Amino acid sequence: MLNIQTSISMNERATQFMPGGVNSPVRACRSVDCHPLFISQATGAYIIDADGNKYIDYVGSWGPMILGHRHPAVISALASVLNEGISYGAPIEKEIELAECILSAFPAMDMIRMVNSGTEATMSAVRLARAHTGRDIIVKFDGCYHGHADTLLVEAGSGVATLGIPGSPGIPERIASQTLSLPYNDLNTLNELMQKQGDKVACVIVEPVAGNMGMIRPQPGFLEGLQEVTQKYGSLLIFDEVMTGYRVAYGGAQVLYNISPDLTCLGKIIGGGMPVGAYGGRRELMKKIAPEGSVYQAGTLSGNPLAMTAGLATLNALQQPDFYEELSVKTQQLVSGIKGVAKTAGIPIQTDHVGSMMGVFFADAPVHNFDDAKTSNLEQFKRYFQGMRERGIYIAPSQFEAGFVSSAHSQSDIENTINTAREVFQAI
Ligand code: PMP
Repeated sequence: MLNIQTSISMNERATQFMPGGVNSPVRACRSVDCHPLFISQATGAYIIDADGNKYIDYVGSWGPMILGHRHPAVISALASVLNEGISYGAPIEKEIELAECILSAFPAMDMIRMVNSGTEATMSAVRLARAHTGRDIIVKFDGCYHGHADTLLVEAGSGVATLGIPGSPGIPERIASQTLSLPYNDLNTLNELMQKQGDKVACVIVEPVAGNMGMIRPQPGFLEGLQEVTQKYGSLLIFDEVMTGYRVAYGGAQVLYNISPDLTCLGKIIGGGMPVGAYGGRRELMKKIAPEGSVYQAGTLSGNPLAMTAGLATLNALQQPDFYEELSVKTQQLVSGIKGVAKTAGIPIQTDHVGSMMGVFFADAPVHNFDDAKTSNLEQFKRYFQGMRERGIYIAPSQFEAGFVSSAHSQSDIENTINTAREVFQAI
């Protein structure tokens, strides 16, 4: 057995002072009956816990670490900021540089506003959509997670799905009732809803590749259908690319699938591991944001030097030739390797990946939506998680999360992971 005694004692201390001992629910590892590991440091593809155990990391801070941990370009850029100043609450040139960099990769966006988290990005985009259309209803999809703003915490994925709760106490019914949630990958139910209430729908918000109910790709025509129906009824289409932006392709899912959403939300990778979020879209929409327009949204630390610098250094490194192809090939090897060893062990699993975003469901049939995802054998997932972690592979502690491969993962890390999965599947 791995010695994780220091993590266990830290968890005991932490639970006295913080709900669940954590600052974000899934980290507590409750659904997999494990103690959370306290991390002391990370480098490249590896993280090291407080007892000195080293793991190959497929969580990557839940997405941002596409270059692996402590990438030299990011660290040296951050080090130079430390000598200049870390926060002013005033404009800096790095904000322009990051904005230019992002806008050149996302043709659907003419203007952008930086915020501090994905939650702020989606919350603000929804506010803008409501202000622009003068309508209240928002449509989302079951199992998609768009952060924890009141309007969006309805039939959500990620930790909400892990805990098996439909929404959250504390959100007034009159707010939750303005958010309608429909099955992912199903245009029929959306079309029916729009026929009845399309003139009241401010926006349709979607994870263009879902990553918060496990990873689920959009079925052919789904994203195109969203664009068509929102245009038809004068609603805005919001792509929540907090996870997929710069993950599934340099310009996110919208470039990969060639769709132009009205508004886009970003986070994770664009901050290179620092707290960040952003939302943007067409000029005439973004000009409605204060101070140019009357839709209010602000932030003490928005656009701060550390986040802008880490983001810019990360995005620059992603521009290397073949970066995304290589990452995708590596992820493909991992995913098909895992599928193969599960098959040999007689365990039915469904696997998929889009770029370096991947998913493994302990389900018998292909998974296209949240209901399918919920057919997964959670007991098997739990034993898989425990077996992998015990053998030095760190994956997200929930069936309802995606996995991420970074450019720091080596061929031998991938082979090692597949061999470990073989052992674990045999033990299951
Ligand atoms: N949208 C998506 C698609 C996400 O995956 C997440 C976080 N996992 C969020 C929004 C919320 O971002 P944050 O945790 O930075 O508030």
